Amino acid sequence: MNMDNESLSIDNSTLLRDFNETQHNQEWSPFICYGPSHLPTFKVSLYLNGNRFDGHGSSKKRAKINAIMQYKSFTMNCNADSETNNTIESDKSAFKRKCTFLMENSLPKTIALESQVAVNQTTETPVSKRNYTDNLIEYPPSKNLTIEPQVAINQTSAISMLHEIFSGQTLTYEHEQSHGLLETISVIVSGNKYIGYGKNKKEAKEIACRNALKSLSKVLSIDNLKYKNQLEMLLTDYGDSKIIDYFAGITDKIYQKLEFTENKFKEYSVIASIIKMTEEDLNSAQVICLATGTKCLSGNYMSLNGESLHDCHAEILTRRCLMKYFYKELMESVKGYPSIFISDSNKSKFKLAKDITFHLYINTAPCGEGRVYSFSDTEHQLNRLSRGLLRSKIENGAGTVSVFGREFQTYDGVAQGERLVTMSCSDKLTRWNVLGLQGNLLSNFVEPIYLESISIGSMFNLHHIKRTIYGRIENSINRLPQNYKVHKPKLRGYSILPRRSTTQSSYCTNWIVSEGIEIIKGSIGRTIENKLSRVCKTSLANEYIKLCSATNNLLTLIENENNVFYDSLKNKNENYVAAKNELLSTFKSLNFGTWVHKPEELKSFELHVGKKSDNITYNSNNQDCES
Ligand SMILES: [Zn+2]
Repeated sequence: MNMDNESLSIDNSTLLRDFNETQHNQEWSPFICYGPSHLPTFKVSLYLNGNRFDGHGSSKKRAKINAIMQYKSFTMNCNADSETNNTIESDKSAFKRKCTFLMENSLPKTIALESQVAVNQTTETPVSKRNYTDNLIEYPPSKNLTIEPQVAINQTSAISMLHEIFSGQTLTYEHEQSHGLLETISVIVSGNKYIGYGKNKKEAKEIACRNALKSLSKVLSIDNLKYKNQLEMLLTDYGDSKIIDYFAGITDKIYQKLEFTENKFKEYSVIASIIKMTEEDLNSAQVICLATGTKCLSGNYMSLNGESLHDCHAEILTRRCLMKYFYKELMESVKGYPSIFISDSNKSKFKLAKDITFHLYINTAPCGEGRVYSFSDTEHQLNRLSRGLLRSKIENGAGTVSVFGREFQTYDGVAQGERLVTMSCSDKLTRWNVLGLQGNLLSNFVEPIYLESISIGSMFNLHHIKRTIYGRIENSINRLPQNYKVHKPKLRGYSILPRRSTTQSSYCTNWIVSEGIEIIKGSIGRTIENKLSRVCKTSLANEYIKLCSATNNLLTLIENENNVFYDSLKNKNENYVAAKNELLSTFKSLNFGTWVHKPEELKSFELHVGKKSDNITYNSNNQDCES
């Protein structure tokens, strides 16, 4: 199968220039970006003479061109009735004569959605010459165009690079048998075959070309100055790209199927998911939960009742969803239903069923230590003193700062306007690699559950991620209680820079398998309906109390009192607390700074537990978050 003609055979710059010169009434929607960040797709709509033409593509320019092609094929169709010798130059007048109806009412929706296909089929379009570098050329200025600046390095696809670098060869593409949910395309260069997996053929093709470039640039000295930086970056990609692509693909597939009441809820820049696998078999991979988000709680919305989510960064939110999933699976096990957990005879301790593993996918490097040095670092800078420092997120903003100088934060201080400090995702990942994903309360029932692997879709730098998630502490931490360790998950990642996102969504989505979607407003830490999130402190603590009740552990928990306080619950597990203290004192002893906790007042809320006849039952005062 030869896919070589795919949209590369159009002189896009001429097309854009002609279009801008002739169509003065054009108006454009803002760009919408979707899909995994290492292979995003852009959508844009062209409004012209009362009609709308949608274009999708791997770059903003490609999306624009596809929208223009939609318009052109539309006008050609309109003119076909009476004119047999249409040319693009006559579009404008032909349009005026023939097309007075709304496209949305007359064109099947699939045409707008599959503009990429439409482009491929528009072979009548004049072809002047091949131009593989069109993505690097800037648009001519136009009052109607709002093109945000992009990182130029990102604008060239691996397909274009491969074709230009090997311009003397005919490259052949083959569509292989599908691998589960994914499309498989291979490209043959100099007699060797390079395979790519993707959620559609286009993505698979791009990845096949990327894999070809990676392999070939190792063996041939490809001396192409134009793509020097990008080729170097491809070489620093790490691990099995098939697995990252697969995780990205199944995550995106679920996300795209979610139903949002408003488009603004769907926009995101960071997405993370946790994937369950059995026996390391990719076919068994199942997304358990996913989340999008880049926001933290505003100090104005702190809750003394544990009702606000403090941290809605995607990876943090998805791990809270995983805890909710663990509670559900533990309850299933208690009831004797199929579950990922197996209990001992008196149902007081559980362990994961054999061969079940959990894998984290994030479309970009975690904020903080793992990300902050990724941009332009060189090997000799790796041991600088500033490396390894604990960092905290900025309230109401992107990025992180070193926590140096901060030891603690107070409730009244934050209430008066001090910023609310939340530790970076990188630091929390380090914590999960020592304390486990299950957190404090669940440690009373299960041994630490560690991430088997971490896959990162962009800005991955092996040295930095390794140092971040275990390297900076592994030789200094030594007094961990039984069952705790410094865990070293498998790492994979793409080094490419993510698309610069100018939209920082205020909304954070989370989804849990068989529980559906919940949308959070990050700054208030509650759902868009102003209700408690199902994964806030109170909600998860209530799940814990339910589990204690179901396993007859409630009496020991509350020591025969009716009420129980959240912070006292958290002090009960001595091993967990000892492991946590060891980790935090290790950070301190290495001069990496102090882990800044939330004000104590936010943890000392009361959980309501009621008695019903002889059995102690969970008494929910929290119907809002039951869904
Ligand atoms: Zn983060």
